[in-house]
Amino acid sequence: MVCGGTGCTSSDSNQIIAKLNQEIAGHGIQEQVEVVRTGCFGLCELGPVVIVYPEGIFYSRVEVQDIPKLVEAHLLHGKPYEKKIYEKTKQDGETLNFEETEFYKKQVRIALHNCGVIDPENIDEYIGSDGYQALGKVLKTMGRQEVIDTIKQSGLRGRGGGGFNTGLKWEFAAKQDKKQKYVICNADEGDPGAFMDRSILEGNPHSVIEAMAIAGYAIGSSQGFIYVRAEYPIAVQRFVKALAQAREYGLLGDNILGTGFCFNIDVRLGAGAFVCGEETALIHSVEGHRGMPTPKPPFPAVQGLWEQPTIINNVETLANVAQIILKGAAWYAGIGTEKSKGTKVFALGGKVVNTGLVEVPMGITLREVIFEIGGGIPGGKKFKAVQTGGPSGGCLTEEHLDCSIDFDTLTSLGSMMGSGGMIIMDEDTCMVDVARFYLDFTRDESCGKCTPCRIGTKRLLELLDKITEGKGSMEDLEKLENLSVQIKNASLCALGQTAPNPVLSTIKYFREEYMAHIVDKK
Ligand code: SF4
Repeated sequence: MVCGGTGCTSSDSNQIIAKLNQEIAGHGIQEQVEVVRTGCFGLCELGPVVIVYPEGIFYSRVEVQDIPKLVEAHLLHGKPYEKKIYEKTKQDGETLNFEETEFYKKQVRIALHNCGVIDPENIDEYIGSDGYQALGKVLKTMGRQEVIDTIKQSGLRGRGGGGFNTGLKWEFAAKQDKKQKYVICNADEGDPGAFMDRSILEGNPHSVIEAMAIAGYAIGSSQGFIYVRAEYPIAVQRFVKALAQAREYGLLGDNILGTGFCFNIDVRLGAGAFVCGEETALIHSVEGHRGMPTPKPPFPAVQGLWEQPTIINNVETLANVAQIILKGAAWYAGIGTEKSKGTKVFALGGKVVNTGLVEVPMGITLREVIFEIGGGIPGGKKFKAVQTGGPSGGCLTEEHLDCSIDFDTLTSLGSMMGSGGMIIMDEDTCMVDVARFYLDFTRDESCGKCTPCRIGTKRLLELLDKITEGKGSMEDLEKLENLSVQIKNASLCALGQTAPNPVLSTIKYFREEYMAHIVDKK
């Protein structure tokens, strides 16, 4: 298996695949060995990654010039090519299967299942790993309400940031007495550093198609849309290919699996506006209008796309659906905490050894994710803070390392789950700079529709600039806090309502760093 995710592709994994095929053919073993381009394995820091089965040996930072020796040692003589084995796989001289390593052993891959396992461009491989069985089960043996009840009982909550109960959302739409309803997959992942939705689309696109068809059946919809950012070319190309294959196999279109159920999916490309991840803005963009939020209610489940009932679920949420249908609500609800069920995918970034994608059960601690799975802080530096929830979230400190990662705990600490960005900072990071970075992002991405966000984020940034330039006073710090609260309370959509979070959380936990920048301390 060779990782064909965006990260490894940008580090020449296509050339590695070509060289592997060339060497394998050169040795005449092409009948015994198949080279598969998969989606992301998660350990992006060590890419390009190659895993050789059946042993499950994990080769890291593979280069094209390694391939002749790797093929000769491992594939011809059955001996792992020592030079490129992921070093943590060695224990007592034995080479471990990669799933037993520190990075993988605490992970539970539900949304990411099949990523790094199958060829995402081959529908037969998806079908061969239980793919489309959930759709068959739903269409042939389950009533619409039964599907909704199963998703409700599983406790699945939206993974795009809102955390709303997915089954309940579906039920609201199902209850609307309208002929036309829509299912939208939100793939407009915009948090800096987050790439979990991108990886799912690149590594397992059929899981999203299958879930959208199941959702369509559950709410009584025949039409779906995926809104995906155009900056994700590999994801878009694989999803479009997967759609064509699903149509060819009769898994999309009219009379799916001979059951009379009709469902189609069209692709809409987003142009990279962060605000278009907000569901009302996304709907306007799909309709062909400028992507700007509108007040809720009405909620999209009642009046959404072209004023018809519409459910919007993000990619990661949908990637859980087929597994829940196949394994049951109780199985899913048995993972995680009382109010946050299942798993969450995080994009680990910043000052951490193992940057990449991890999927962990809800309720795991920040310490386990950062120090056990993430391998800790590089260069023996000290951990300082972790930012969860991207520009809408907040920074947490060492005292929070043993807190549980779940929707409610993170919110109670002044941060949030968000879509799953997790940026780690070490002792060298200036927290005022961090707040400034995120605010600069939200100021840029403000759609400008409402004054508190449009003008407020600009004024906040000016205050932060003044402070970081060493020209700030205590009065400025007070203004920063007051204005942040005003913006949170008065903005129209979640972008503005959460934009001050990085400022407020860094003032709360790192006030001394602001004070260090302030000259006039009176
Ligand atoms: Fe636009 Fe910001 Fe107002 Fe949202 S809060 S509508 S992004 S100006």
